[in-house]
Amino acid sequence: MKNQKFNFALAALAIIFIFYLLINRLENKKPARAESGNKVVMNTIAKITAIAPDKKTARLSIDSAFGKIYRLEKLMNRYDPNSQISKVNRLAAKEPIRVDKDLFDILQQSIYYSRKTDGAFDITVGPLVDLWKKCAEANSMPTEQQLAEVRGTVGYEKVILDANDFSVRFVVEGVSLDLGAIAKGFAADKAVEEMKRCGAVGGLVDIGGQIGCFGLTEKKGKWIVGIRNPAKAEDNQIIAKLAFSDKAVSTSGDYERFYKIGGKRFSHIFNPATEKNADQLASVTVIAANGTEADALATAVSVLGAEKGLEIIEKTENTEAIIIKAGSKDLIKSRGVERYSSR
Ligand code: AMP
Ligand code: MG
Repeated sequence: MKNQKFNFALAALAIIFIFYLLINRLENKKPARAESGNKVVMNTIAKITAIAPDKKTARLSIDSAFGKIYRLEKLMNRYDPNSQISKVNRLAAKEPIRVDKDLFDILQQSIYYSRKTDGAFDITVGPLVDLWKKCAEANSMPTEQQLAEVRGTVGYEKVILDANDFSVRFVVEGVSLDLGAIAKGFAADKAVEEMKRCGAVGGLVDIGGQIGCFGLTEKKGKWIVGIRNPAKAEDNQIIAKLAFSDKAVSTSGDYERFYKIGGKRFSHIFNPATEKNADQLASVTVIAANGTEADALATAVSVLGAEKGLEIIEKTENTEAIIIKAGSKDLIKSRGVERYSSR
């Protein structure tokens, strides 16, 4: 009888020990992490980090995501004469031009954000971008006459989209679409989608500072993103650290890209209503549910200024912003931004 009890206890101990080993093994099976390193795409530097059950899946998801980003760049690069957007810019005033679903999608979203921001966000700024580029190269300010010529071609209401056949048409000659303020955020969204499809369980896509992330890091933590000080951009000085997942972040600012004429810097973001350069804010960071929204709203807030910009951010669900006015060090934050603060 005693012996039987002893054997029973021994068997129970053995079972507990086996369970302990099993649980320990499962806990120790950390997901794999892979990093792409820096790649040049969309006129900037992009990098991707992937977390997946194994290294092979992590790498595959990175390659697949970059494949998607390169395909989008081919569609949306207005400086490539063979891109679809170039074909639209050349011909859409003459006849409706049919485009790929992805291009139609970003055009539709662009018009949505134009309406939402009272035209502060407007992809028809193409002719203004071209004018300022030309003037910066010649080191001469645009003349009133040059600005007047451009005026009649800017305005999102001049773009007609037909969802029945994915076609685009312009109502006047001279309209030229520029997706520079939304394409990187859109591409980050599509890259995240592609990574998930390939089996990644977490990841961070960074296309020139437009960031999209999902899932958790391999240490099961949130993703940490640093916001740079626009006044000390060369030193990579960080003024705020944010921690989150399943979100996107976009920063618009005049510290990286600008026009220089007569030794003076001019913002590369325009107010479509006045054709003037947006010069009130040094940097605008928007946190949103997806990259397309973050990218479009960061540009729009740069145009609208702190007060009106924050109004739109507060009205948009799941969206927060950190704004720095030109010449100031103070951070102006939307109401809910603190919940993303990371020490
Ligand atoms: P971002 O860095 O995302 O703010 O995008 C800025 C780029 O978008 C500029 O370099 C222009 O190509 C284009 N852009 C300038 N002003 C606007 C605007 N008001 N709405 C949409 N795109 C703009
Ligand atoms: Mg933008």
